[in-house]
Amino acid sequence: MTDTEDTATDGTAAADPSDVDTADVLVIGSGIAGCAAALGAARKGAEVCLLTKAERPDGASTDWAQGGISTTGGNPESLKQDMLDASDGTADPDAIDVLVDHADEAVEDVLLDTLDIEFDVTADGEFDYTREAAHSDYRILHVDAATGTHILRPFLHHIDNHDRTEVRQDTAALELLTHEGRVHGVVSDRDPRGATVPNGHPIFAGTTILATGGIGALYTRSTNPDDATGDGIALAALAGADVEDLEYVQFHPTAYDGDDPFLLSEALRGEGAVLRNGDGDRFMDDYHPQGDLAPRDVVARAVDTEREATGEVVLDVSPLDFEGEYPAIAEKCRDRGIEGDEIPVAPCEHFCCGGIDVDDRGRTSLDRLYAVGECARTGVHGANRLASTSLLEGLVWGLRAGEDAVRVDADPEPVQAPDLRNSDPALPDRFAAEKSVRLKRTMDEYLGLERDPEEIARASGVLRRLKGEVDAYIRTRTARDLYELRNASVVALLIARAASENPESIGCHYLVESTLEQPADD
Ligand SMILES: Cc1cc2nc3c(=O)[nH]c(=O)nc-3n(C[C@H](O)[C@H](O)[C@H](O)COP(=O)(O)OP(=O)(O)OC[C@H]3O[C@@H](n4cnc5c(N)ncnc54)[C@H](O)[C@@H]3O)c2cc1C
Repeated sequence: MTDTEDTATDGTAAADPSDVDTADVLVIGSGIAGCAAALGAARKGAEVCLLTKAERPDGASTDWAQGGISTTGGNPESLKQDMLDASDGTADPDAIDVLVDHADEAVEDVLLDTLDIEFDVTADGEFDYTREAAHSDYRILHVDAATGTHILRPFLHHIDNHDRTEVRQDTAALELLTHEGRVHGVVSDRDPRGATVPNGHPIFAGTTILATGGIGALYTRSTNPDDATGDGIALAALAGADVEDLEYVQFHPTAYDGDDPFLLSEALRGEGAVLRNGDGDRFMDDYHPQGDLAPRDVVARAVDTEREATGEVVLDVSPLDFEGEYPAIAEKCRDRGIEGDEIPVAPCEHFCCGGIDVDDRGRTSLDRLYAVGECARTGVHGANRLASTSLLEGLVWGLRAGEDAVRVDADPEPVQAPDLRNSDPALPDRFAAEKSVRLKRTMDEYLGLERDPEEIARASGVLRRLKGEVDAYIRTRTARDLYELRNASVVALLIARAASENPESIGCHYLVESTLEQPADD
């Protein structure tokens, strides 16, 4: 797949073809979507190279997933309806059909038969299906409330040991390699031996699959790992790929309300935990007929309103065997010094419902470029995602895209790589950190749970200036954190643009009247 001894390190396509670093299928990202894509392609006989900027399994939201992965529970039509309802009727029914019709087969094939994951079972040895908000049935497979870890670690182990896959960790894709509207791979920041290449290292691929996850790092409070800087969405958009639905940023209603927030899975409410306001009263019945199990966007706004009105909102876990059933979450509470059954909660950025526009096999609008998982917009979530459908989406679309990406008409072509410059590597002290804080504040203030059209316009102005400053530095530097900041600012601007172009308040895009101070009259 690659000549590790003589790899070119000057950022341009090497003259000697034997020096060129190539793969049939190049996958960017090592969460569930990237692993599934790698597996799908390797099973069809492709030589696969998987890059991840993380030192695995860190950096992937998959490793942090709690509640579980949805199956059909024997009633596919009911799951389809729940997904459509949670999205306020905005999800694409054809995309939901693809997901749900392949759900049980993918779970059985990969998670049960290939990876041997031991999901929780009842005393009778049957799967102990759980339920989460807006699900009308018990159909979610889980391992405690630490399902992601139990899926991702064996999955990575399997990919590592597959004879057709090569995994390179701590290696970031900085740019896509494009030529005449076709994608030919990426420029990464390290060579196959793991050495940093200041001018970028090209990897040429027959097909390239982006599986770079979410955008949590655009907000001050997020449930996501710091790696979630929206890289794939930015790289695809900069190369001219279509993106869609980016205004629909999902905020989870129950994250710990304090420093270093963490998620309190909806499975807790699914099993009986309830929300109470600062007066000790339950309130969700006043907001939605499904009460505490209403769709996420509704609960998040209700929690926000009640926090403002009564000072705080807590998740009361006293109806549960909290320590026994949810040991990983209970441990996080103990680490933060939370005692008793009432955990203070507040909404927190959680999931990007939109992303790179793809079809039912993960194909983007650019030739030979695919996208899967959270960075992709398949249409299954519309304006609001149903709980425990994201791992499933990554698994199903990952496999489908991986298989489709093995193409006889797509050999790696060593096109001219962009000449990334690192002529002036030093940055002003704390440049990236300070600009990142400014970006997050702008997103928190103007593109959060509630938006107002004038504030969105103001945000766009701030973000445009910020991106201009970052672009000026990136012309002569290849530092990874600078590229991450560039990517975050591109995605932030795309979110602002999508929000400004959508006048309808729906799902995660909730519009309010202007609260901007008007200029005083003369
Ligand atoms: C706390 C938490 C709990 C959740 N619970 C659930 C749940 O119970 N059920 C459910 O269905 N969903 C849940 N979700 C959502 C779900 O986990 C994610 O949407 C899903 O795991 C995303 O998978 P992914 O493979 O697309 O991305 P990720 O798992 O985030 O992986 C992305 C990978 O891309 C790499 N990467 C990013 N940029 C680059 C680059 N430029 N170069 C190289 N590598 C790069 C990252 O390092 C990472 O390895 C939860 C999410 C969080 C954060």
